[in-house]
Amino acid sequence: MPNRQLTSDELEKARVLLAEIRNKLAGLSQGDSELLFAYRRKIYKELGYDERSKPMKRRALKDQKWKEQRGLCAICKKEMPARYTVPDRLNAVDGYTPENTRLIHQECDVSQQESRGYA
Ligand SMILES: [Zn+2]
Repeated sequence: MPNRQLTSDELEKARVLLAEIRNKLAGLSQGDSELLFAYRRKIYKELGYDERSKPMKRRALKDQKWKEQRGLCAICKKEMPARYTVPDRLNAVDGYTPENTRLIHQECDVSQQESRGYA
């Protein structure tokens, strides 16, 4: 399922919000570029977790899916290494839940992204 796209009105609201966030970060850091860097990284990391889950939760899900799939890639059905695998969401907005996620090779992920026109 393709991800929802923002309408032009929603895109404008996102631009306004981003400008507000940048202004607040500038206010918090008061010209201290290292502090601005640290605040920006913290916000970036936490927003990433909102979409992708925290590392420990992702690790646990990958281990669970690896066992459920008996170490076989959900796309090519060949054996996968224990690491360097990719949790693939069936519907991105539904997040990394056991029901919405399958484990695949990194190479199969890249091929899939290319065939969908994402890469
Ligand atoms: Zn594969």
